[in-house]
Amino acid sequence: MQTSFTPAQLADPHVAESEKILRKCVHCGFCTATCPTYVTLGNELDSPRGRIYLIKDMLENGRPADREIVTHIDRCLSCLACMTTCPSGVNYMHLVDHARAHIEKTYKRPLPNRAIRALLAFVLPHPARFRAALKLAKLGRPFAGLFEKVAAFKPLAAMLRLAPAAVPEASAMALPGNHAAAGTRRGRVAILTGCAQPVLEPGINEAAISLLTRLGVEVVVPQGEGCCGALVHHMGREEQALASAGRNVDAWMRQIDNGGLDAIVITASGCGTTIKDYGFMLRLDPAYAEKAARVSALAKDITEYLATLDLPEPARKPGLTVAYHSACSMQHGQKITRQPKELLARAGFVVKEPREGHLCCGSAGTYNIMQPEISARLRDRKVKNIEATGADIVATGNIGCITQIASAANLPVVHTVKLLDWAYGGPKPAGVPEGRALVAAE
Ligand code: SF4
Ligand code: SF4
Repeated sequence: MQTSFTPAQLADPHVAESEKILRKCVHCGFCTATCPTYVTLGNELDSPRGRIYLIKDMLENGRPADREIVTHIDRCLSCLACMTTCPSGVNYMHLVDHARAHIEKTYKRPLPNRAIRALLAFVLPHPARFRAALKLAKLGRPFAGLFEKVAAFKPLAAMLRLAPAAVPEASAMALPGNHAAAGTRRGRVAILTGCAQPVLEPGINEAAISLLTRLGVEVVVPQGEGCCGALVHHMGREEQALASAGRNVDAWMRQIDNGGLDAIVITASGCGTTIKDYGFMLRLDPAYAEKAARVSALAKDITEYLATLDLPEPARKPGLTVAYHSACSMQHGQKITRQPKELLARAGFVVKEPREGHLCCGSAGTYNIMQPEISARLRDRKVKNIEATGADIVATGNIGCITQIASAANLPVVHTVKLLDWAYGGPKPAGVPEGRALVAAE
């Protein structure tokens, strides 16, 4: 694509980066076929190519964002299916991240929208605030129907509907400290505790830590780590996102310099995509660029790391049929497609892949709150495809997808690592049926 930025505009490194990306696009439109919003809404401006044109026009003319571009960029899920499809290697992720930061700086959103976004950015990255908010949401749930009737308050209704009926107790395993390897140590990793996941489902990291330590891997929960910054990054709140990234880089560097790390293990693929991008996000900060690149190189999804270990035979082979839902951040953001399915099959599950596996379930960070209608359409389409597999359970590697799919599916939705932990000697995850043929390993 031809661009016409002035040298003065290109002096801004963010603009220069976006210009490089724009020039790669040959406007072939292949990406439209796999874009969930184009497939759902059928509007070119809600396709990757349409958004690329809008962003180009806004940046080239150096103008503030307007209502039209905000509408179409807000509808983008950042699922990155377009990046998997694109034959020209267009880095849509970095382009839309830049556009979102530009929107945040130059566009004044209507007050209710601003207030809800500010509330989400204040609450979600902090486990204590999020826990308190979920408890309050329980009281507010009867008012969800009322909020639903006013367009500006629909996100509030979606928030109340998504809040779980009960909030689990915080896990002691999430506290900073070391979990020793059983037997001979064959690795040392840090695990990301994160923000929303340990509040909604603390059992995920508990399963990961138990499984890893049983396999001989020491697991460190570093002092000082927290939210990866993805939630605010996708809102265009760059300063907040970079502060989170910098704080985590510091926490992990202390471990790298003091005992070493083979990997930084992440059990939420949405966070994994962002942490693997820290090197890019912090590239312009001389104090952090090199350290962030080191951290990104060490970041691994739990299934990616487990696949590097020489696993023993499972303690039991549950024989259940699992519909594997590959989160967008797993398959498109991190290009991890093989390992989760192979690990599940090796652990004795029969793995099925639902139709239209490339399409987002509509969760996408805060998307199911901010865009509840499109999100619900995508969720229902996803659940229909999952249920058509006839599977006993759904496995996936991202807490957002778990919450989203479970809100409409008639079968249990479980994190992949909980199923693996069970097969390798851990407890059976709650809600999962007994295995068809529990076979002790020879
Ligand atoms: S597939 Fe790639 S090159 Fe083609 S229009 Fe989409 S982003 Fe541009
Ligand atoms: S990130 Fe997803 S929703 Fe956004 S343009 Fe790409 S394919 Fe479409």
